[in-house]
Amino acid sequence: MFYKVSSEDEYLYQGKRKRLVEQLKEKGIKDLPVLNAISKVPRHLFFDNTTSRPALLDHAYSDKALPIGAGQTISHPYTVAFQSEQLQVIAGEKILEVGTGCGYQTAVLIELGAKVFSIERQKTLFDKTKLFLPHIGYHAARLFYGDGYKGLPNHAPFDKIIVTAGAPYIPNDLLAQLKIGGIMLIPIGAGEVQEMTWLKRTSESGFDKKILGNFKFVPLLQNKAT
Ligand code: SAH
Repeated sequence: MFYKVSSEDEYLYQGKRKRLVEQLKEKGIKDLPVLNAISKVPRHLFFDNTTSRPALLDHAYSDKALPIGAGQTISHPYTVAFQSEQLQVIAGEKILEVGTGCGYQTAVLIELGAKVFSIERQKTLFDKTKLFLPHIGYHAARLFYGDGYKGLPNHAPFDKIIVTAGAPYIPNDLLAQLKIGGIMLIPIGAGEVQEMTWLKRTSESGFDKKILGNFKFVPLLQNKAT
């Protein structure tokens, strides 16, 4: 079902990942733990395996969004690096990710030492990623099939929340599940382009907010899908 992880893959792709890390540095990513995490996660194994392997492998380490099945995409490495950097992850923190997709961002957060809880609304993607992440060594992710608008009230509060799909507004349930002092990164906008929004919860009802530029995500959709 999945590509085999082999020492040959490692050898071949380590160099490609190094070059990707250099590109990310040139684009402004500075956080060493984030760059180190990206240099470890084998991005070429995360793609939809119905697409031609050579074509995908050519592109796996270019800074592109690519298909992962069920009409969804893996985020650009720059976007993953940017959101991860802005989250300021500290090892041991509990992080809620909305939009598991193929699990690439999940793996980067695990490499950063986070305890990741991730939600996906597409059953096929959820099933696939639940098998895939442990297959390549990421056993620690807690993956949930559900609607990310609602978060995971049974596991709240979270130190950090990262939303990896474009939301028309900030869901109240997610705000409620953020710890005081916690940070949320969420792309906001109903159209093709979203504003990356950084929020810090300062008190029970207080939030600081910054807009960190424009990004393009697939939409955050309501309810679960099969
Ligand atoms: N984190 C992924 C990004 C995948 S694209 C990566 O590393 O590449 C965004 C994902 O969000 C898609 O898989 C999509 O199905 C999912 N999604 C969209 N709306 C959602 C919702 N309400 N709840 C959970 N997941 C959602």
